[in-house]
Amino acid sequence: MENTSFLVTARKFRPQLFKDVVGQSHITKTLINAISKNRVHHAYLFNGPRGVGKTTTARIFARAVNCLNLQDGEPCNECEICKHSLDGRSLDIIEIDGASNNSVDDIRKLRENVKFPPVQGKYKMYIIDEVHMLSTSAFNALLKTLEEPPNHLLFVFATTEPHKVPATIMSRCQRFDFRRMELTDITGQISYIAKKEGISIDEQSLFAVAKKADGSMRDAESIFDQVTAFTGSEITYSKLSDALHLIDEEFFFAITQNISESNLKEMFDLASKVVKRGYDYIETLQGLLEHLRNLLAVKITNDTTFLETSETQKTQYLEHTKLFDVQDVIRMIQFISTAEQQIKYSPQQKVRFELTLAQLAYLPKSHSINELIEMVKSGKQFPQDVSNTPLIPKMEPSVTKTISVANEQVIASKKISIDIAVDENKDSDDEIKLSKKSLRFIKKEEIEEKWDLFLDKYANSQYQLTSLAHINVEFVDNGLLLFLNSEVIYNNYTTSIMQSKLKKIVDEFFDGNIQINYKLDTSKENREFLGIKENKVEFEKHEKTEKPLDETKDKPLPIKQENLSDTDKTIINLFNARQSN
Ligand SMILES: [Zn+2]
Repeated sequence: MENTSFLVTARKFRPQLFKDVVGQSHITKTLINAISKNRVHHAYLFNGPRGVGKTTTARIFARAVNCLNLQDGEPCNECEICKHSLDGRSLDIIEIDGASNNSVDDIRKLRENVKFPPVQGKYKMYIIDEVHMLSTSAFNALLKTLEEPPNHLLFVFATTEPHKVPATIMSRCQRFDFRRMELTDITGQISYIAKKEGISIDEQSLFAVAKKADGSMRDAESIFDQVTAFTGSEITYSKLSDALHLIDEEFFFAITQNISESNLKEMFDLASKVVKRGYDYIETLQGLLEHLRNLLAVKITNDTTFLETSETQKTQYLEHTKLFDVQDVIRMIQFISTAEQQIKYSPQQKVRFELTLAQLAYLPKSHSINELIEMVKSGKQFPQDVSNTPLIPKMEPSVTKTISVANEQVIASKKISIDIAVDENKDSDDEIKLSKKSLRFIKKEEIEEKWDLFLDKYANSQYQLTSLAHINVEFVDNGLLLFLNSEVIYNNYTTSIMQSKLKKIVDEFFDGNIQINYKLDTSKENREFLGIKENKVEFEKHEKTEKPLDETKDKPLPIKQENLSDTDKTIINLFNARQSN
């Protein structure tokens, strides 16, 4: 009857010999030795995660100790006793589920029964599964048997939670720790089963099944059943990912590819794909974390042999490591870990998930920051002016011609702006909120327009910002540049407390992420600025030029004034400005 009906894979392919138990040879070898040398202990504790072969091993063990025709410690599986036990008809092997037979009465019954000798073989074996589920009084009753066990009696206790088993029981058992299955153990076994069943399965699918099983062979086998019921005799990765509702691993490669290209649009598309298909946001982020962890490991070791994935994907990982710096990957991992926590408890999971992916495309590249810090240390010049770079690129392509004020404090002020940037990256609690804001592009005109309102509100003694009204300010997109005309004011404004206080106020007022830079400018002109009514001066002029000008280059040239407006000329003269080359 049973031969013609469908047998689940886990039962059909249950190992019948010690040597067929996958991944636990450290245990099966010890048991074979004990049986061969006739030194069997009276109680064993099999500890280990679910589905790794504890009960299977116990059953083989039970047959082996009673087998009439033992083969090098293995049961013959042919003699009368073996056959009875394989058919589940043996009276000498008693399996008890600790979870449902955990009362004192159950154990009392057990204690009555253990007195009777085995019917057929040499030993009577009790296999108690989930033994940690027994009640304390049941354990006490059991202990009495364990203290003076009859010679014919054998116990195998199986548990996933050994710490819940009383020490008094534990100390009377030989303990075996079953290993969590290695991925290759599982892929090997599933591949073997597929071959036997005439089912074709590709390598990527094998790894996907094994990964989902998370170290449990039994789970892997039932996942395999689930997939074959859906796909029939040919398992391909796309069918499998449908059957198991898995996120295609290509998806994660697409994400890292688009991060490297800062492709915001594509990141939103990928996010909406997840939303549309109804994938769990947290699981998706966890998958992405695993992907980045792999990327990081390959990047550091330049080795893919340890990766739990197919050969095709190993090659893909090697390719992708070229896209990032180690610290870029670490930063992404930190960012996603934080976002994952926030999304978990957010009422707006969808929005936050989309923003998280979008923001990944604009995480600052640690590479360049490191370079810049190095440059500050060595006193070298910057390759370009990064201090005023808005967190998102300008919407319209524009070439900025900068007229620079003679200033010896450029390096110092830039160091401060870099420190701020680094601090912001560490400020993970508010990261989403902050970065959501940072996505807002604020034109310098908008900042300039509202600056007087800002001063009206904050440049007073209540906020201890009175001096702000007397400071020369340059407005840039998503940023402010404050020209501080004395060292006292400069030192006051550039303490970290003051900086974060001002930034908080400014960000709130302008509803965005405003980069504030400070320059100490003790030049005569700037000191005289106090006397000038108008405190907003245009420093930048957008013009199409072939060659972008760089303010940090040496030897500023005198500015040709023929083509400039009157305002520009006034400014140039006022600040004795030089044109950069
Ligand atoms: Zn036998």
